[in-house]
Amino acid sequence: MENGPDILVIATRNQGKTAEIRELLKAFPLEIKNLDDFGPIPEVEEDGETFDENAYKKASFAAKVLGFPALADDSGLMVKALGGAPGVHSARYAGDNATDADRNEKLLKEMADRLDRRAAFECVISVAVPTGAALTYEGRCEGEIAREPAGDSGFGYDPVFYYPPLNKTFAQMTRAEKNSVSHRGKALSELRGEFDKVLIWIRREMPIFEKFNCRQDGCGQGD
Ligand code: IMP
Repeated sequence: MENGPDILVIATRNQGKTAEIRELLKAFPLEIKNLDDFGPIPEVEEDGETFDENAYKKASFAAKVLGFPALADDSGLMVKALGGAPGVHSARYAGDNATDADRNEKLLKEMADRLDRRAAFECVISVAVPTGAALTYEGRCEGEIAREPAGDSGFGYDPVFYYPPLNKTFAQMTRAEKNSVSHRGKALSELRGEFDKVLIWIRREMPIFEKFNCRQDGCGQGD
């Protein structure tokens, strides 16, 4: 039976992220959707202890609930002198209602007397099917925590993440420059490089949903 075009759900409501991934995978015969293309579905709590765990949780939950293969990413900043913080807590480092500026201010305060300023962004991408089987892609970018914020592009910790090879913070880079060196850019390009194989894997792992006609099969008779 023909199952229709391949659909991949990006497990996010962030249109920017969806657009970035759609652009990256545009050469493939794929219909890309995100959570906004479906009705309300329960929120997944990102309470894993690793990026890996959170990415898998988001991707496998969306795949199970929606019945389509799903892709999710999880990322954050790890600072050596802070024992890897903020890490998986990057988004909520300064509390629930804090802004990016609040988080950067808190980080710079914590780092004020530190000589070791090494840090790395990490990103994990998980592609899961409804049975729970999944593939994982990772990207990492090493840099340093700047002494003060610089630049106004990007988002999050970009203004305080200094990347020595380009002598710029992430917020001083163009989007293309950042994508060519960033944790997310690397994980996504690894995924894109293998996407032909990923599609074969998805087709093999996807359960086949067969429609059947109750009357013909005789089921439900006598109900
Ligand atoms: P999530 O993976 O979208 O949940 O992002 C986790 C958090 O990590 C974000 O809210 C940002 O604070 C931080 N983060 C992840 N990637 C980046 C980046 O490329 N630049 C700056 N901050 C980032």
